[in-house]
Amino acid sequence: MLRKSIAGLPDYVSDSTPERIAKAAGLAKLTRLSFNENPVGTSPKVQEAIANWTFSQARSYPDPDAMPLRTAVAGRLQVPADQLLFSSGLDEMIALICRTFLDVGDESLQPWPTYPEYQLQAAIAGAVTVNAPVDDATGRIDLQALLTGITAKTKVIWLCNPNNPTGTYLQVSEIAEFMAQVPAEILVVVDEAYIDFVDQVPNPSVLSLITKFANLLVMRTFSKLYGLANFRVGFSIVPKTLIPKMQNVRLPYNISGLSQTAALAAWKDVAFTQKVKRQLFAARQQWTAFFDHHHIRHYATQTNFMLYQVAQPQALGAFLKQHGYLVRDSMVPGWIRQSFGTPEQDAEVQGLLLDFLKTTS
Ligand code: PMP
Repeated sequence: MLRKSIAGLPDYVSDSTPERIAKAAGLAKLTRLSFNENPVGTSPKVQEAIANWTFSQARSYPDPDAMPLRTAVAGRLQVPADQLLFSSGLDEMIALICRTFLDVGDESLQPWPTYPEYQLQAAIAGAVTVNAPVDDATGRIDLQALLTGITAKTKVIWLCNPNNPTGTYLQVSEIAEFMAQVPAEILVVVDEAYIDFVDQVPNPSVLSLITKFANLLVMRTFSKLYGLANFRVGFSIVPKTLIPKMQNVRLPYNISGLSQTAALAAWKDVAFTQKVKRQLFAARQQWTAFFDHHHIRHYATQTNFMLYQVAQPQALGAFLKQHGYLVRDSMVPGWIRQSFGTPEQDAEVQGLLLDFLKTTS
């Protein structure tokens, strides 16, 4: 009954909410540092905009083109409005890309480790994903290894920049050089979910390359900097020739009017996002100094999370959970991926981490 590509997948396991996990474990509460969410939250302007949303609109289908949001995003990013494609979060975008570009038997190529959804959605489309390991010493995506991984079957290349889970960032010039060597019929998807958190260079995005490469698609989300993960809004800047095809594949009303309203309010509140960035940069600096001071191996992150190496990641994961914090302890064998929290949460987690290391070393 099932399609072959679906039958071969491992069964879905519920990624439970902290409330449900806490209840099952008999804990009062759990803080999730495992989803790279924004600990500051979203702009108060979002709440205002939602309160002003006219309830009578509930009966009508939403604007299929998200026009006010589209205009605002295109204006600030200086990209053509008709090259924007909106989706219910980037997870839907990844599925959409796979449905549009991957046939059964095609290959998708990615660094490893990276965001697992690429491989899952490619597998659902019936494609095989080829992994090019990141550089172990630095955690950086190995562009040369990716070029070597290209075959006649490669249709899509995923470049997560900065990369989840290593947190590392590739320069625009490095990606430009890479693009110049990728055959023009392969789509290169640059996932910029965390690009707003890069402070290493003034203009970190590859958007400046879209006029140069007609096979470059750039993805962004409202779930991270804008703190709107619950509203499910993401978008892509899609090459001109491909956008009508992707628009056909997209479901027509994939973003509710309420989500469009929330995203627009969050997008406009630049003062709030600057505050989020200031807090994030301080947390990142503080965590980096902490890891350096205690000689805990970690990769240089340009995101709102960090990947660090410990001898017993699962035991540490269980210990932190017992004390009210959820982290990713099995995404990369031997490593923990942990989002930065509020200053209070981070101080508590650092204390717990030192306690754990003392008792286990
Ligand atoms: N890309 C990356 C690299 C991510 O880490 C995530 C979520 N953590 C997503 C895409 C999906 O984001 P969303 O669906 O919330 O837009």
